[in-house]
Amino acid sequence: MKLCRFEYKNKVAWGVIKEDLVFPFNNLLDLKFSDKILNLNESIKQAEIRFLPPVTPSKIVCIGRNYADHARELGNEIPGEPLLFLKASSAIIIDGEAIIIPAQSNQVEHEGELAIVMGRSCKNLSEADNPLEYILGYICLNDVTARDLQKKDVQFTRAKSFDTFCPVGKFVETELNVADISITTKVNGLVKQTGRTSQMVFPVEYLIRYISNQMTLNAGDVIATGTPSGVSKLKAGDVCEVEIEGIGILQNSVK
Ligand code: MG
Repeated sequence: MKLCRFEYKNKVAWGVIKEDLVFPFNNLLDLKFSDKILNLNESIKQAEIRFLPPVTPSKIVCIGRNYADHARELGNEIPGEPLLFLKASSAIIIDGEAIIIPAQSNQVEHEGELAIVMGRSCKNLSEADNPLEYILGYICLNDVTARDLQKKDVQFTRAKSFDTFCPVGKFVETELNVADISITTKVNGLVKQTGRTSQMVFPVEYLIRYISNQMTLNAGDVIATGTPSGVSKLKAGDVCEVEIEGIGILQNSVK
C-alpha cells in the first residue's frame, strides 16, 4: 500500500494511492493497526491534490558508514556499532522540489538512502521483540550533506541540516521486504551510487532495536539507514534521482 499526505481545498489529509486516485483518511499513524478508519468509497483524483511530504517526524535518526564501501571511500573505519546522528526535520522537502546549495558550502553531496518510517513508538526493544512490528513503511530519502562542513565541524549537525537537505519521496510503501533490494542514485542520468540493502553493516531490525535502546522512537520518526559508495558533488542545474526497488524514484533538481 502506498500512503501519501496532501492538500486539497485548503485542508491537509492522508491518503492511500491507487492508480490515479487518492482515498483520504484522517490519521496516518492509526492506519497499520486499524483498518476501520479507511473509507474507500470516497476518492479524489491525484491531479487535483498537492502532494506534501508523507512524513512529519519528531526526529530523523541517520546511520553513518553503514555500507563498508562508503566508509572506505571517505577514509573511515567500519564502525563496531551503529554510528548515529540527527538531521533536522526542517530540512525535509518532497520529490520535485529543489535542493538549494547554501553559500556556506563548496562541497554539497548526495547520499541516496532507504529510510524507515516508524508506525508505533518503542523503547528498549530486546532480542525477544520483533522490530519489524513497529514499522509503518519505507521511503526514498536523500541525505544531502555539506561534506566540507562535515569534515570541518566537530559533529554533523550543520552539514546535514540545511533547509532542503532532506528530500523524501511522495509516498510511504507499507508492503516491502527490504532484506535485499537495490538502491541507485543518478545525477543527470549517470549512475553514481549503486548498492543493495543486503550490504548494510547493520540491517534494519538491528538498527531499530539498537536506536530504541538509546532514545525513544516515536510513531512517525524516520531512520535513514546509510548510503552506498559513490557519493559525489552536486552543482546548480543538476538533477539527482534516488531509485529504490519496490518503492520508486525520488527526483530533485539543484539550485
Ligand atoms: Mg547518510
